[in-house]
Amino acid sequence: MAPKIFRMSRSTLVLCTDCLKEHGPAPGRWDEDPLQECSICGACDSDAQEEMNNISDALQQQWEEDQPDLNDPRDFK
Ligand SMILES: [Zn+2]
Repeated sequence: MAPKIFRMSRSTLVLCTDCLKEHGPAPGRWDEDPLQECSICGACDSDAQEEMNNISDALQQQWEEDQPDLNDPRDFK
């Protein structure tokens, strides 16, 4: 299972769950940020990234289907 990635608020420090455990508990506020890579070990939440790609693909598909096809004569009846 892919590690979860957390980014410290108002900081560029990014840690995965393993590094947080190893170096934590770290003070401050940590927000889940699945698109970042761990600053220490470089781990990334590949599951979340894949999911995000699937979502944007689906949105793109939806957007294309919503566009009227100007070459389709049915739009000009
Ligand atoms: Zn790490």
